[in-house]
This record gives sequence, structure tokens and C-alpha cells, in this order.
Amino acid sequence: MEKPVIVAVDDEPAVLGAVARDLRREYGKQYRVLRAESGTTALESLRRLKLRNEQAALFLVDQRMPRMSGVEFLEEATELFPDAKRVLLTAYADTEAAIQAINEVRLDYYLMKPWDPPEEYLYPVLTDLLDDWQAQFSPPFEGIRVVGHQLSARSHQVKDFLARNLIPYQWLDIEIDEEARHLVELSPSDSSRLPLVLFPDGPPLTQPTNAQIAERIGLRRHPGMPFYDLAIVGAGPAGLAAAVYGASEGLSTLLVESEAPGGQAGTSSRIENYLGFPSGLSGGDLTRRAVAQASRFGAEILSPLEATGIRVRDSYRFITLTDGAEISCHALLIATGASYRKLDAPGVGKLTGAGVYYGAAITEAMACQDKDVFIVGAGNSAGQAAMYLARYANSVTMLVRAESLAASTSRYLIEQIESHQGIRVLPRSSVVEVKGDTSLEEITIADVATGDVRTMPAYALFVFIGAVPHTEWVSDVVERDSQGFIPTGPDLVRGGRRPKGWSLDRDPFLLETSVPGIFAVGDVRRRSVKRIASAVGEGSMAVQFAHQYLGRVPE
Ligand SMILES: Cc1cc2nc3c(=O)[nH]c(=O)nc-3n(C[C@H](O)[C@H](O)[C@H](O)COP(=O)(O)OP(=O)(O)OC[C@H]3O[C@@H](n4cnc5c(N)ncnc54)[C@H](O)[C@@H]3O)c2cc1C
Repeated sequence: MEKPVIVAVDDEPAVLGAVARDLRREYGKQYRVLRAESGTTALESLRRLKLRNEQAALFLVDQRMPRMSGVEFLEEATELFPDAKRVLLTAYADTEAAIQAINEVRLDYYLMKPWDPPEEYLYPVLTDLLDDWQAQFSPPFEGIRVVGHQLSARSHQVKDFLARNLIPYQWLDIEIDEEARHLVELSPSDSSRLPLVLFPDGPPLTQPTNAQIAERIGLRRHPGMPFYDLAIVGAGPAGLAAAVYGASEGLSTLLVESEAPGGQAGTSSRIENYLGFPSGLSGGDLTRRAVAQASRFGAEILSPLEATGIRVRDSYRFITLTDGAEISCHALLIATGASYRKLDAPGVGKLTGAGVYYGAAITEAMACQDKDVFIVGAGNSAGQAAMYLARYANSVTMLVRAESLAASTSRYLIEQIESHQGIRVLPRSSVVEVKGDTSLEEITIADVATGDVRTMPAYALFVFIGAVPHTEWVSDVVERDSQGFIPTGPDLVRGGRRPKGWSLDRDPFLLETSVPGIFAVGDVRRRSVKRIASAVGEGSMAVQFAHQYLGRVPE
């Protein structure tokens, strides 16, 4: 944490120099001494301190200054830092003003100039005040602060990006938080351009893109080399596992991720069926460990950076990135997984991010305190989200198309859901419309058997339905099935015939696609198991096939 600040203000340079020197000598270890030659300059510095969430502990200010007197400065400075101690430096003639200031600006003390020797006239007073300040001081939140409207898609995007990248942040809702309003007033942006993202260092960002935030928090977005033995696209469990094995087995390995490492698993509140963690672990925890492990072995991770296309030339495979750059490799691994299918009902598009969310239960759970929320979907991910949201929400309603959760949710989760008083399951239900002016207000649900509809007030709707694979970007080069999943290995050899354009005198390896040296693993692969452990297994297995492929690839 930055040291709290003592602010000294005096228009006479010699006096200011002397007071700053004395302050540094006595308090320099614990406090930063900031000096200013006028009240206005000091206020500018204070505004910057406030935006960076630094603390002012004490103002020591000369009363008699042109343009802005000491008392006038204290009036404004106190609005920014109400808890800072206030001391006026006065001459005899100013005593009256100082006494008045005790009431006006709750002055803590006034000191007569000169204060020599400081051991006698300055330090005893200031030490006493600073001790007092320390005693009632609670350290501020040190990380990134996000100021915005709770029910705004842009604010949700920023929060979700930070949460998924495991960056701690403090959320300040401008509608209910006085401090949030104050920060917006101080910043160069206006309240119509939120969210405002404040960093402990450097200037704030207004309505930032993920790439801008990534830059500020030091995420890596440019490859260190033009060529890699193994390039992996997608840093979910499959891609991360491949990175760990590839890098640990001596391959120069690059991992490219478009949003945040962890993939779908990273959004899971509690994974209970992953081997070796009998009491479960969160997706965030698993991701943190996997990223550390892959990095430790030397894998390079670029995020957020999207792969938009691939091309093949001789033994080289090229990945095109969003910024137009290309990376070349010999073995390419597609681990881009899948994401939730979009809910097809009127109003959903407009309210996405403003009450309607895809996944994102962890990011928005706190905001659902004492509210009524709904979940669409009946898989394990929907069940986990229900359990997590029920910690905060007044009620959680699961809207399930089928007769029950039995066919699609694990037994252990069904038992937890059934025994939770805050969760109810509405079978045979489908969402037919969502409504709200600026954020979700109500949802209309139809009984799929009878067609009866009813409308209910809703604060949030979390969507966990079906999976759509992320494979558009390889569609020109790699074979896909009618749903967009990528067939591999034996799936590609039909009636003893190898895939079209296949040039090698062997069949595709188990996890190899229709193009030699390009592999597909995890949820993106046709007929994959859609589990974390299987994605991890496939990611690690694919590296073995990559080794075999690389062993015969011409340089
Ligand atoms: C909420 C939730 C809870 C779950 N709980 C469990 C559980 O308890 N147990 C269990 O076994 N399974 C669970 N699952 C399923 C499991 O998470 C998935 O099967 C697993 O994550 C699949 O891993 P993957 O690496 O194949 O793909 P994903 O996890 O989908 O990761 C793919 C990654 O690729 C990135 N990507 C996509 N396109 C591009 C591109 N063009 N360029 C760069 N990057 C790209 C994505 O951003 C993503 O990070 C859960 C899923 C969800 C959503």
C-alpha cells in the first residue's frame, strides 16, 4: 500500500521548503510528504490521490495565501478527505481566523510561525494528531475499483472480465454508493460514460474494452517468438493441460486465449467431481493452479487475444489473430470449447448484461442479495449456479423443460438442490419473453405441456442452455460436423477412406482433425464427454500425438 500523505501548503517557497524538510525528517518513514505552493495546486493533487485511492492523513496549511486562504483550502480538502487532520499555520494577526476555523472546518490545531525548534513546537502536536488518525483509520481497498450502474451491460462486461482473469476488484454502484458518485465527479469522465475503472496507479479508464484493461493489468498480448513447435488455441482445461504437458516435455509452447484462462470450468462455482479434490474446488482455483503450472514450465500465455482464422502452408500451420498478426507453428491444437446457446425469446437481446446473463453466476451473485432470480437450464452447470446464487438471493427458481432434473443433473447435485429451501424447480417450463425498460423486470414463462403462460417479477435470469462450439474460425480449413463440432481420428475414416485432402500414408491419430498436425480436444471435439477431467485428459494425450507428428515433420 502507498504511504498515507501529509500535505503541506504555503505560498512562501522558503517556509514551504523548511516545513517539508522538518516533516520528512520526523515522519518520512511512515508518511509521504506532499508540498504545494497554493491551495489550488494542492487540491489538484488531492483529487488525483482520491482517484488512486490513496489516503491523506494531515493537512498543514498556511492561513495567509493569495487567492485561496488556508481555511478556504481546508473547506474543500475536507470534502475529499473528511478524516484527515487539519492544522493551520498562522501569524499573530491570524489568530481570530484560526479560532473561527475551529468551528467552520473543525480545525484540529493552529500553530504559530515559526515553529522552531520543531521537537518542541511542531512534532508533539502533529504526532498526537497522526496517532489519533491512525487509530481510527481503516486501510482502503488497494486494488482496482469499478464504478458503474449495476444493471448495465458495459459494467457487467468489465466485472466479468476482471473476475474471470482472477483480478480482485471493488464494485461501486453509482445508484447506491455516495463514494461512487464522488469519484465520478472527480474524474475527467462524466456520469453518462460509465463504467469508470480506477487503478491504484495511473489514470482511470472510461468504458474500457477488455484489451485496454488487459494492457493496464499487465496481461500479455504479444507473442515472444514468431514460431512455436506447438500452438494451442483456447485456455480452458483442455488447452491448459496441453500447455502443461507440451512445455514440460520440451516443446516451445504458445497458448492463445480470447477471454480469460479457465474456459467454462473457470466460471464454475464448485467442481465436485474432479479427481483429487474430495471436498471440491472452485473453477477459479483450478485455473489459478493450472496457469501457474503451465507458466512455470515455460508455456507462453497470451490473453485476451482471439484467433480468427488458420491457414496451412507445407509443414507450417498459421494462426491469424484479431489484431491481424500471424503466429506460425508445426503442431496446432484446437481447444476452443463451447459456450451457451443464446436464449431465443423477445427482449433477451436488449437485456443481456442488464439482468439476463450467460453463465456469470459468480460475477453477479452478490448483486442478487435478497432478490428473486431465475435460471434456465437443467445441466450440472445450472445446478451449481442455483446452489451458489441461493447463498445470496431471496429465491432461486430453476426453469427446466423436462419433467425433472433427473436426466441431466448429477445425483449429488439434485440432492443438494432438493434439500435447499431457497431453490425451487419449475418443470416443463420455457421462457417466452423477458421485459424491462433499462433492466430486467419480469419474465413470461410457458408450460410446455399445456401452453399456459404466466408472468413473474424477476431481478435476474441466468442462462445455461445447450452448447455451441467455437469453430467458425477454422471452418475454411478443418472439417466440422453439421453442428460445428470437429470430428477427429476414427470419426474421419469412413468406409476405409481417409478425409479429403489427407496427404499422409497413415490414418489420422485419435485426436487429429482432417488436417495433419492439427488436433482438436475437449468440448469442441465431436462426441467428446463434456467434462473437465476428460478435457484435461484429451489435452495431455494430444501432446503425445503432437510428438509423434513432430518427429516426422520436415523442417
Ligand atoms: C458453470 C459450469 C460448471 C461446470 N461444472 C463442471 C463440473 O463440476 N465438472 C465437470 O466435469 N465439468 C463441468 N463443466 C463442464 C466443463 O467445464 C467443460 O466440459 C470444460 O470446461 C471443457 O473444457 P475445454 O477446455 O474443452 O473448453 P472450454 O472450457 O470451453 O474452454 C475453451 C476456451 O477457449 C477460448 N476460445 C474460444 N474461442 C477462441 C478463439 N477463437 N481464440 C482464442 N480462444 C478461444 C474460450 O474463451 C475458452 O476459454 C461445467 C461447465 C460450466 C459452464
